[in-house]
Parts: sequence; C-alpha cells; structure tokens
Amino acid sequence: MIQKILSQENFTKEDIVQLLNCSKEEQILLFEKSAKVKEKYIGNYVYLRGLIEFSNICIKNCFYCGIRKDNSKVSRYNISDEEILEATKFAYENNYGSIVLQSGELQNDTFSDRIEKLITKIKSISDNKLGITLSCGEQSEETYSRWFNAGAHRYLLRIETSNIDLYKKIHPNDDTHNWNKRLDCLISLKKIGYQTGTGIMIGLPFQTIENLADDLIFMRDFDIDMCGMGPFIEHIETPLYQYKNNLYTLEKRLNLTFRMIAILRIIMKDINIAATTALQAIDDIGREKAIRIGANILMPNITPNEFRDKYILYENKPCTNESSSDCKNCIDVRMKIAGNTIEYGKWGDSLHFQKQSE
Ligand code: SAH
Ligand code: SF4
Repeated sequence: MIQKILSQENFTKEDIVQLLNCSKEEQILLFEKSAKVKEKYIGNYVYLRGLIEFSNICIKNCFYCGIRKDNSKVSRYNISDEEILEATKFAYENNYGSIVLQSGELQNDTFSDRIEKLITKIKSISDNKLGITLSCGEQSEETYSRWFNAGAHRYLLRIETSNIDLYKKIHPNDDTHNWNKRLDCLISLKKIGYQTGTGIMIGLPFQTIENLADDLIFMRDFDIDMCGMGPFIEHIETPLYQYKNNLYTLEKRLNLTFRMIAILRIIMKDINIAATTALQAIDDIGREKAIRIGANILMPNITPNEFRDKYILYENKPCTNESSSDCKNCIDVRMKIAGNTIEYGKWGDSLHFQKQSE
C-alpha cells in the first residue's frame, strides 16, 4: 500500500497520515526512500552548529518547558559575554563552521543590544567565517533586522504545533503566548532574509496523528528552509506533567519523530533538517538514526560545562556532564558509524534557501 504513496511526487494529508501509521515492515521502505532522497539531493554530509545555551532566564510560561518562568526550582544563569566568546572560539578553532545562540526568551532593549554586539564580536573574532544561527524566541521585526544586519543569517523559531487549539492547550491563554504572533514572527524572519527554521514537538498531550500531518503540510506551505523537531519529553516541574500517563511511550514518540523526519525529507528535499538533542535523550544513538534517514544537521553542545545542568527543558537531557572537547571526539566517530561525513569548516546553508536566492 505505501509503495504507491512513496512512488508519488507529492503527498496529500491522507497519504501522510498513512505513512505515519504504517507498519514496521512498511517503515523500512519509508526510511529507504528518505535516505535515497537525502543522498541524491544533499549527499551524505552532516554540518555542525556548536550550540551555546547562554541563558535560561525566560519571561514565558510554556506548559511543557522545564525553564519556564514559574519553575522556581531552576537556578537561573546568564553566561557572560566573555564566556560566550570563549565557546565561540572553541567552535572556530575546531572548525565547526557555525554556532547557534539559544536562550530563554527576553524582550527588552538591553537584551537586543547585547545580542547585536555579540554577533558583531563573533563575526570579528572569527574573521567573518563562523555562521551564526539564533534561537532567542519572539522579538520585534526591528530587533530581528538589527541582528540580521549585524551578521546572523539563520533563525530557529519552532511553531511548536500548527494547530491553534492545541497551541492554546500547551500554553497559557494570554497575549505573550499567541500562535498568530508566533506565525507573524516567522513571516518577519523570512521577509528580512533569514534562513528560517521552524519545528514542532512530537507526542504532546492531546496531539493526534492528523495534527502531525498538518504540521508537515504547514512546513511545506510556509516553505521553510530548516527544521528542528523532536519528541516531547515531559518535565516533572511543568503543568503538562499531569498527562504523563496519557502519552505515547517514549519509544513511540521517538519512532514517530523518525517517521516525521523521513516524510519531511521526501516532501522538502533540499532543506536542512536537524537531528535534535531530544532524540538522544531517548535513544543513545537516536541522532545517528535520524541522520541515516534524512537529517543533515547536528548541534553539538558547546555550552560551558558548569551551566549545562541548568538548561534542562526536558528530563534525561544527555551530555550535561561532558565538556565541549568530549563532544567533539564523540560526534566524529558517531557520524562515521551513521555512514555520513562531517563537513568541517563549512556554513552548510540550506540548499533550499540558496536556490531561491539565485
Ligand atoms: N526560548 C526559545 C528557545 C529555547 S526553547 C523558544 O522557545 O523558541 C527551544 C525548544 O525546546 C522549544 O521551541 C521547544 O520546542 C523545545 N522544548 C521545550 N520543552 C520541551 C520538552 N519538554 N520536550 C521537548 N522539547 C521541548
Ligand atoms: Fe521559555 Fe522557550 Fe521554554 Fe517557552 S520553550 S518557556 S519560551 S525557553
């Protein structure tokens, strides 16, 4: 049955639902197809983004997230500029090619100014050679523009779910947690000229397979350049923890994530797709599996060691005890096992974005 779907050029929502629900035997065909698409359109290469989780201070209260504002059990940190630049130097000297600056969300002038200055400094200490992706939440169009003009060229802002009703169930019902505003941010990012990345969580309470199919269609229709999606992993100090007995098993969430990545690779052949850390939280070789079937971006954590155990969005987060150099030795081996080569020292921009800019 799925052979026929896989032979088509494009998928309807019903096709995607069938693929997400396919049997174990059919899944082999799905993954073979997505791996072939990856090999043909982007090659068996992986690009690195050294991930710096520079602050866990957040003004928001997303019901799923361990560093939400109202979690008073988190000890809050904000890494100094010097330490961020140290981590950046590590990425530069080790030929990572790019970094990601990620944090909780702050929306004020001090924060905008700080990030703008940091971007300028990162560009200068790396001789303009390090690519910069930002993941600092919702900001005004003006702030996004300033950061872009300073030298950031990629932005990750997950829509979390394309379904407004589901969005309302996993966020407080107020003005700061508004699906339409989030969409407007994505529209601004694209307009400004960022390579725009979004994504969702997989296995949220109340989420259906139809919702996931709609999420993929949302990404296709929005014509994203990059995607980062991963399994939802419940955190005990969050409101969604109360639904822990109604969730898919972690294995099922992991497997659905692989299927989502495979289908996305087939329908959006030349975008960048990240093998996210949350995959590794469930399966030690979860990211490698994702790389095999279609993902092409890896984000090794280069956050200074002493802060890693404080940026806990979900439980069982891996590598919180390791140092950046441990990560470096580890990923090289891991990617070889996955049959892929790490392209050191390259930006690894989204081919999808490049083609459209030509
Ligand atoms: N504050 C920024 C960036 C940090 S959060 C933002 O919200 O965009 C980065 C991502 O972590 C979120 O987009 C969300 O999809 C993911 N995340 C948060 N809590 C999670 C959980 N419990 N399980 C899995 N992913 C989670
Ligand atoms: Fe803050 Fe992002 Fe977590 Fe929401 S998901 S609480 S915005 S860090």
